Amino acid sequence: MVHPSDAIVAAMRSPSTEDKDTVRRAYDFAEQAHGAELRKSGEPYIVHPHAIALYLARLGMDRDTVVAGILHDTTEDTDTSPEEIEKEFGPTVRFLVDSVTKLSKLKYRGLERHVESMRRLLVATASDIRVIIIKLMDRLHNMETLEFLPEEKRGRIALETREVYVPIAERLGIGVIKAQLEDLAMKTLDSEKYQETAAFLKEQSETTKDALEDAKSELRKALVAGGIRTFRLESRTKNVHSFAKKLAKKGGDATLVYDIFAIRVIVPSIEDCYRALGVVHALWRPMLGRVRDYIAAPKPNGYRSLHTTIITRRKITAEIQIRSEEMQRGAQFGVAAHFNYKRGMSEFFTSGEWIKSFLPSLMKFQLGTPESGTPKPRWLTDLVEATREDDEEGVFQKTLAEDFLAERMFVFTPKGDVIDLPVDATVVDFAYAIHSDVGNSMIGAKVDGKMVSLDTVLKNGDIVEVLTKKSAKPSKKWLAYAKTASAKHHIRSSLAKHRKSEA
Ligand code: MN
Repeated sequence: MVHPSDAIVAAMRSPSTEDKDTVRRAYDFAEQAHGAELRKSGEPYIVHPHAIALYLARLGMDRDTVVAGILHDTTEDTDTSPEEIEKEFGPTVRFLVDSVTKLSKLKYRGLERHVESMRRLLVATASDIRVIIIKLMDRLHNMETLEFLPEEKRGRIALETREVYVPIAERLGIGVIKAQLEDLAMKTLDSEKYQETAAFLKEQSETTKDALEDAKSELRKALVAGGIRTFRLESRTKNVHSFAKKLAKKGGDATLVYDIFAIRVIVPSIEDCYRALGVVHALWRPMLGRVRDYIAAPKPNGYRSLHTTIITRRKITAEIQIRSEEMQRGAQFGVAAHFNYKRGMSEFFTSGEWIKSFLPSLMKFQLGTPESGTPKPRWLTDLVEATREDDEEGVFQKTLAEDFLAERMFVFTPKGDVIDLPVDATVVDFAYAIHSDVGNSMIGAKVDGKMVSLDTVLKNGDIVEVLTKKSAKPSKKWLAYAKTASAKHHIRSSLAKHRKSEA
């Protein structure tokens, strides 16, 4: 019997009978939980989790992630409890659903603050990268159906997408998702420019179509003659947003944007890549200084390929991108390409380790800003230069992230504001980090809704509520609980003040 979840299972990588049963069970569970709830589009709610699970399956994600995608809105929108999810689908699915739910709880509090909070929240809750990937797919589907929301909301969601989700997709190397998200955001935020640019690209594609087809068949013959037997060719047009960005950089002169069109040559091995590059250069004249070897020197997000820009016989400028199948998967799916379906996620991506490598580009790290004053070490300036050459904006250095992350954690107020503290900080540090008055009048605290003692050491992602009373005052014991210099300082001065007034 045909079941709506069959399409999801069919998109999964070699699903077992157990996978099929579990996905179907999750689908029925979610459908029942959402009941008569409708989306703003008027469709039954289940359409949304179904779409997300399908995207996740296509990315090659494991069963737990696909199932969590189906269930991702159940605890938020219905009276399903996390315990129920754990009982039915196990602790990993519960964890994934819980984390995705936590992410959607952040309240919008002005763009600047929101973007920063959102990035920090992502980092803090997503020690397991699968949380971020589910959230990205959730956002993609919400952006695809944005037209049904009121205008004010549309703008805000599109902004958040551009400022938070696009950089994450880019950093994770999920090229397919990044391009879609940024085009969808531009369509809402700058619709006139979007329409104009899209129309220009369409016209260009139409006028060059035949010439590009000719170039492809010439290339096909040359590759075979060059002894490369197994290969396939693809072509792509630059996405609207990245073309508009490049065009602006080139002063509006479209003839200076050399990679509007690209022909991809996908071959079995690395040796074939270099051999194919030789064939391409023998066939067409390469443009000087436009050869890039991202195989020997991958981009910071892991992108690998050979690039060269050529002018075809019919005078079309195109970029030729040469890569192996593995590199092609990496370029489209980024980190998701590293999932091993059979063995599950590597520990690197589920233990929080990955965040160390990705943090600087998730946070707004600005390297080499002149006003920062401190001279940059040589390796750092070299790196910044190297990164600039790639003309990518994500400036990234792993070492920096490790230093940074080794010392800090992010915890939250019940309103969703983010407080950043050293890793061994306690409830006392948190209270004083909000304000010295909050610290000085603290009588108790809750972490994730439960009362805790004041010496409790906080963890990344904790939501902390401080209970206060006007007449309260700090106790001497707190000096031992506090880890931050600023909390200790405030406690001491408050103690001194009270001593004086009592004397
Ligand atoms: Mn959702």
